[in-house]
Amino acid sequence: MTTVLGIEGTAWNLSAAIVDEDDVIAEVTETYQPKTGGIHPREAAQHHALYASDVIERLLREYQDKGYSPQNIDAIAFSQGPGLGACLRTVATSARALALSLDIPLVGVNHCIGHVEIGRWKTPAFDPVVLYVSGGNSQVLAHRAGKYRIFGETLDIGIGNALDKFARGAGLTHPGGPKVEEYARKATSYVKMPYVVKGMDFSFSGLSTAATDALKDNSLEDVCYSFQENAFAMLVEVTERALAHTGKSEVLLAGGVGANMRLREMLDVMCEDRGASFYVPEKRFMGDNGAMIAYTGLLMFDSGTTLPIESSHVDPSFRPDTVDVTWIADEQEVL
Ligand code: AMP
Ligand code: MG
Repeated sequence: MTTVLGIEGTAWNLSAAIVDEDDVIAEVTETYQPKTGGIHPREAAQHHALYASDVIERLLREYQDKGYSPQNIDAIAFSQGPGLGACLRTVATSARALALSLDIPLVGVNHCIGHVEIGRWKTPAFDPVVLYVSGGNSQVLAHRAGKYRIFGETLDIGIGNALDKFARGAGLTHPGGPKVEEYARKATSYVKMPYVVKGMDFSFSGLSTAATDALKDNSLEDVCYSFQENAFAMLVEVTERALAHTGKSEVLLAGGVGANMRLREMLDVMCEDRGASFYVPEKRFMGDNGAMIAYTGLLMFDSGTTLPIESSHVDPSFRPDTVDVTWIADEQEVL
């Protein structure tokens, strides 16, 4: 049985977990909450630096309290990117120190792939088209010929950041996504908004600005609703075309924005129409979490991938389609 300790800290959430092939054994999380405005990268990194050793200590204590010995841990995995540079460097430093002190290998995990793999682990999804929607990222991914290919992605900001930015302008506190969802439920009419899909890619920054402008003449409830309807329809359209193109029969929703019930409903309707299965992991595995990094690290470690300390630099714009998916055999693909 392989056991891996993984650390996530690409943005707002510092989270570490220990997993084996069966389950998450221990997990400890410290969340950065900005006092005003959105995420300040330097403040978030300082938060992670302040809590890193405490989080690891509590994690190892929890693990030992359950009767395990730290000597069982085979590797240290960390989020190598994409994310905020200062946050990534802080987490990488802790991971290197731990790997050296326990004298075990390091594994560098792509954060986006972490979201995909925890979803495949914690739902029956086997070979899905993945809609990954979070603060900084929005991508439609699917496995094909040894890589997680990006079928469509945002041309500017992530859908979560677009929602948060609009919400901040409307005087709501961070994170804005859940508040926009609340207001949208009380809407009475639709306000026309831009709908931007180019090829297989989408763009949200114009939509966010248009929504802010629309607040001058419309209620917050109606604008929240219209923003969601347009943004989610764009995401569902591209997901549907990726399904048609790849011939796959499953959709997996990943990332923090996946908590949104309206988005789930729209994806569910699309999947129902196409005869595809739709999977959503439990909420604790949707937003950024240590377990997804530990588990992806475990898959990588088991398939022979480790990272020498001297080449363990972080990459703030690390693309998932550059990673060799060594843990999925090509013949496993349902194509
Ligand atoms: P992540 O980066 O994956 O951890 O996701 C964080 C993002 O998810 C933030 O931008 C939040 O505003 C967004 N978010 C969380 N819950 C919801 C929700 N119910 N509806 C829309 N966005 C949400
Ligand atoms: Mg994320």
